[in-house]
Amino acid sequence: MVELRTAVDVARAVASGELSAAAVVEENLAAIDAREGEVHAFNVVTAERARERAAQIDADIKAGRNVGRLAGVTVALKDNMCTRGVETTCSSRILAGWKPPYDGTVVRRLADAGAVMVGKTNLDEFAMGSSTENSAFGPTRNPLDTSRVPGGSSGGSAAAVAAGFATVSFGSDTGGSIRQPAALCGLVGVKPTYGMVSRQGLIAFGSSLDQIGPFTSTVADAALLMEVIAGHDPLDSTSLPQPAPELMSVLSHGVEGMRIGRITDMPEGSSPDVLERLDAAFDVLRNAGATVVDVQMPSMSYGLTAYYLVAPAEASSNLARFDGVRYGLRVDAKDLNAMYGDTRAAGFGDEVKRRIMLGTYALSAGYYDAYYGKALKVRRLIADDFAKAYESCDVILTPTSPTVAFKFGDKTNNPLAMYLCDVFTIPTNLAGHAAMSVPFGTGEAGLPVGVQVLAPALGEAPMFRVAAELERAA
Ligand code: GLN
Repeated sequence: MVELRTAVDVARAVASGELSAAAVVEENLAAIDAREGEVHAFNVVTAERARERAAQIDADIKAGRNVGRLAGVTVALKDNMCTRGVETTCSSRILAGWKPPYDGTVVRRLADAGAVMVGKTNLDEFAMGSSTENSAFGPTRNPLDTSRVPGGSSGGSAAAVAAGFATVSFGSDTGGSIRQPAALCGLVGVKPTYGMVSRQGLIAFGSSLDQIGPFTSTVADAALLMEVIAGHDPLDSTSLPQPAPELMSVLSHGVEGMRIGRITDMPEGSSPDVLERLDAAFDVLRNAGATVVDVQMPSMSYGLTAYYLVAPAEASSNLARFDGVRYGLRVDAKDLNAMYGDTRAAGFGDEVKRRIMLGTYALSAGYYDAYYGKALKVRRLIADDFAKAYESCDVILTPTSPTVAFKFGDKTNNPLAMYLCDVFTIPTNLAGHAAMSVPFGTGEAGLPVGVQVLAPALGEAPMFRVAAELERAA
C-alpha cells in the first residue's frame, strides 16, 4: 500500500515551501498510473488541469501570495458534483458527455482554499446503491481487497483516498453513501447536518436528504475540510444561516463527562466482528471518562422502509428533468413523447428505473396517503425518537455498516439485501442530523470496521470530539 498523506500535513508543508504542490500531484498521478486500471475509482482523471493548478499554487507561494488553508491538497470529487467544463455524469449514460457551465459552491470553496482537483469519481448511477456496482461505466473495486466492493454510492471517492490517488475526496450522502463506503475502505466519512453544507451544484437525488461531505484518512482532515466547505450559501435555499462550525479546536478536548448513547433496541443483523468493535468503542470512551447510557430508538428499524418511499419519491421528481431536451443523451424518435420515452429507456439503468417507478407509484393519486404520507409520519417518529434519546446523551454509537466489505455480486440480485446495508445510516438522513464513520480496527478477513458516531442537528463539535477519541485509541 502507498503511504497516505494527510491534508493537514500537505497544506502545512506546501504553504511553507517544504513540499511543492506539483510533487503532490505527481505522487497521486503515479499512484493512479499504477493501480487505477484495477481499481477504477475515476470516471475522468483531470491530470493536465491538476498540473497547471499545482504550478499556479507553487508560483503563488514563491511570490508570497496567500494560498488558502488547503494549499496543494489534492481532491477527488464524486461525479455528481458540477464542475465547470469538466464532464459530470452521475455515472449514467443519460448524462454522458455533459459539461456543466458552472462550479458548485463546494467545488468553488475548495478551489478558493487552494485545493487541486485530480478527477471525478465513479458512483452508483445517480447515487442509488451501496456498492458502486450500479455505475453505467463499470464497478469500482475496493483497494484493500479488489475482490470486494468499496461500498457506495460514493465508492469511487472512497477508493481514491484509500488507494492514494488523492489526499482527500468528497461524496454525497442521501442514506449512507459517504459513511458506508468510508467504513468499508477504512476511512473517516462525514454526513453533515442537513443545510450545513451547500447543495448548490450537487445533482439532486433526494433533495430533503442529500448532503455533501468529506472522505479523509484522519479525523483532523475531516474537521479541516468541514471548516472550509460548510457555512451559509445564499445560492441554496435550504442552507442554514450559520457560519461553518469550529472543529479543529475541539479535537483535543477529550470526552471526559460526555454521555454516549447505546441503543438497546438496535436493529439486528450485524455480524459478530462488527459488534465486537462497537463494544470496544464503548469501552474506550468509558475509559476516557465518558458515561455510556442506554437509549431506545423503537422506530429505527422502520427507517429503511420510510426511506425507500421518500427517497424514490423525491428522485422520481428530480430525475424528470433528464428528458433528452436539456442535458446529455437524446434518442431521436418519431415524436416528442416517443423521444422522451426512448431517451429515458436507453439512458437510465435498472436501479434508477426501479426507483423512478417506486417513487412515481408512491406519489400517485390514490396511493399518496397510503405510502408517501405514511412514510412522512414514520420520518417524524424517527425525529421524535432521536429527540427523546438526545435528552439523555450527547452522541450515539452504532455500527456504520452491518458487515465489512462484501464480495462483488453478493447482493446484486437481491435489492432488499443491498438496501439493508444502510439500516444504521438512513435514520440520520431522515432526521437531518449529523453523523460520521470512524475506522475502528478490523473484522473478518482483516478488513476495516467503521463505528458510526451520531449527533443531533448542529452537533458536529461533540461528534468530532468523540471521533477524535476513537481515532486516538484505534
Ligand atoms: N444506498 C442508499 C440508496 O441506495 C443510499 C444512497 C445514498 O446515500 N446516495 O439509496
